[in-house]
Amino acid sequence: MINFNVPPCAEKAYDYIRECVKNQKICGDGPFTKMCSRWIEEKTGTAKCLLTTSCTHATEMAALLLPDLEPGDEIIMPSFNFVSAADAFVLRGAVPVFVDIRPDTMNIDENLIEVAVTKRTKAIVPVHYAGVSCEMDAIMDIARRHGLAVVEDAAQGVMASYRGQALGTMGDYGCFSFHETKNYSMGEGGALLIRDESNVERAEIIREKGTNRSKYYRGQIDKYTWIDQGSSYLPSDMNAAYLYAQLERAEEINEARLACWNRYYGNLMSLAESGRIELPGVPEGCVHNAHMFYIKAADLEERTALIDWLKEKNGIHAVFHYIPLHTAPAGKKFGRFHGEDQYTTRESERLLRLPMYFGLELEQVDYICDTVKRFYE
Ligand SMILES: *Cc1c(COP(=O)(O)O)cnc(C)c1O
Repeated sequence: MINFNVPPCAEKAYDYIRECVKNQKICGDGPFTKMCSRWIEEKTGTAKCLLTTSCTHATEMAALLLPDLEPGDEIIMPSFNFVSAADAFVLRGAVPVFVDIRPDTMNIDENLIEVAVTKRTKAIVPVHYAGVSCEMDAIMDIARRHGLAVVEDAAQGVMASYRGQALGTMGDYGCFSFHETKNYSMGEGGALLIRDESNVERAEIIREKGTNRSKYYRGQIDKYTWIDQGSSYLPSDMNAAYLYAQLERAEEINEARLACWNRYYGNLMSLAESGRIELPGVPEGCVHNAHMFYIKAADLEERTALIDWLKEKNGIHAVFHYIPLHTAPAGKKFGRFHGEDQYTTRESERLLRLPMYFGLELEQVDYICDTVKRFYE
């Protein structure tokens, strides 16, 4: 059996977690949280990184940080996404306005954003699907011209870039995920990247239950108090310890994943050339991180048959992905789709993700590709 995902782990995690326990430093913002945040700041060049309990929570923080977001305000995002970004804004009473995706990358179609902007639009939420960047130059230009915030859902984008800039650092806020299905993991966890220094103080307050405890810990004030709205968004240092062991080996993990991705791409090229399947697109200027390897079958029926063939006959666990949000009960209730759904539903029904994780071997990739090819013979 080849699993679809195996949570990433670096051996040092055992030592680091032991250290937390031995030193009785297990709560939030301990030494490992600091080391992870500093690593992300140095690696990405963001002004500030705050480790969070999830990417969903990082997005919730971003929603709380948007200036004067009011019920009924609109947030433009793709419907082909996980529920987190929509939820974070729905919790504020805002309306997700879904626009169509580009079929080559499954990312929001940058050419459909501007026509969806209304007087009530407050932000754009691009999702970098599979660690392949959205067209950020075009998106930032629209945001600037209309005075909109940009919150990047970079859950899948750690170690990926767009024209030399790390994903998550171009918008006002960027959200990373360290869930066990992502390239780097702490079980459950994430990070909020803050581009502008001026937004850091309020973010620290929101993350610490609306108090100025972060300032207190730094010795900048001698007692802390409740000064704004907030919640508890900081993870235990034991989770950060688990993550830090992988961040130390981030280059190695990234290269191992890319080797698998390239092997898939090369092996399956012939099937794509004969028109049987489609392979993922990586536009110029995008450096991806091999978060995912997907192919597209002809349609839903063929994809279902291929998933069965891989799993039942050959022990390979391959999976489909998002059901478009605008077709879900909550999506219908809280959001709306702007324009025509030309690609979102159709392409999501064709997409099939093949096994991808740190530790997957090239021989296994070869076996998976041969099995896909036998299906089409
Ligand atoms: C995984 C994922 C999330 C959610 O991350 P959590 O850390 O589980 O909250 C959000 N958006 C995208 C695109 C994701 O892939």
